[in-house]
Amino acid sequence: MKTLTITTISRGIERVQEKVSFVFLCAFMPLRLCVEFFHIPSRTRFFLFFLSLFSLCNFLEAGDIQTFPKEAKESLSKLLQGNDRYVKELLVHPNRSQERREEVSQAQYPFAVIVGCSDSRVSPIIVFDQGLGDLFEVRVAGNVVGPIEIASVEYAALHLHSSLIFVMGHENCGAVKAVLANQTQDIEPIAERIQAAINAIPGAGKGSLEMAVKANVIATVKQLRENPGIAKLIKENKIRVAGGYYHLETGKVELCCDLL
Ligand SMILES: [Zn+2]
Repeated sequence: MKTLTITTISRGIERVQEKVSFVFLCAFMPLRLCVEFFHIPSRTRFFLFFLSLFSLCNFLEAGDIQTFPKEAKESLSKLLQGNDRYVKELLVHPNRSQERREEVSQAQYPFAVIVGCSDSRVSPIIVFDQGLGDLFEVRVAGNVVGPIEIASVEYAALHLHSSLIFVMGHENCGAVKAVLANQTQDIEPIAERIQAAINAIPGAGKGSLEMAVKANVIATVKQLRENPGIAKLIKENKIRVAGGYYHLETGKVELCCDLL
């Protein structure tokens, strides 16, 4: 409760700083003109110059708190930075405050869509160190996509304006392992898609489990990129699709399908 209050006060101060800085910025040009016209002494000019510079820095810094990564590259970088914090155990647990709850209560603008496996060890919010309203998750065993999953991804891409779709497979995935072992009786609709993905890459079915998981990620990325609705957004430069492989022990997400 105490932390929450401090955070709220701190954010309040930042917002006041931002507004004050904005006013100074707006006043900078008229002040500059006054200096020229009325020949204000050099010491006062010096003071005004630094006051404006300070306001500019303050404004940019305060504005950065609200910065939303609109570009796919920035979104991918934000994901990987979060994963780096997770790997190094330097978690910051962003966007989990009362203020954030209020902020996202009326609308959500997740910067990335994660298409991941339902596996309990691969929670995107945790492995990317993100918070409420940051990630739109579509999770199904084996991170495959059928019509329902694609419709979910399209919804986020079209209506929530996410700039990145990230497909994430993982080490020791039970669904992919079952396909390689030909024990798919309980997961037939999923297995069919995984099998097709493995078949699409020569040698993937006879290689390691890791190779098959990566082949499955690549196939899902390709499938999403070729979906007409998503392809249109890619063409308009509004979204990109990438893929990665999560290492269970280290927590590291390795890129296996970069942005185009
Ligand atoms: Zn899995």
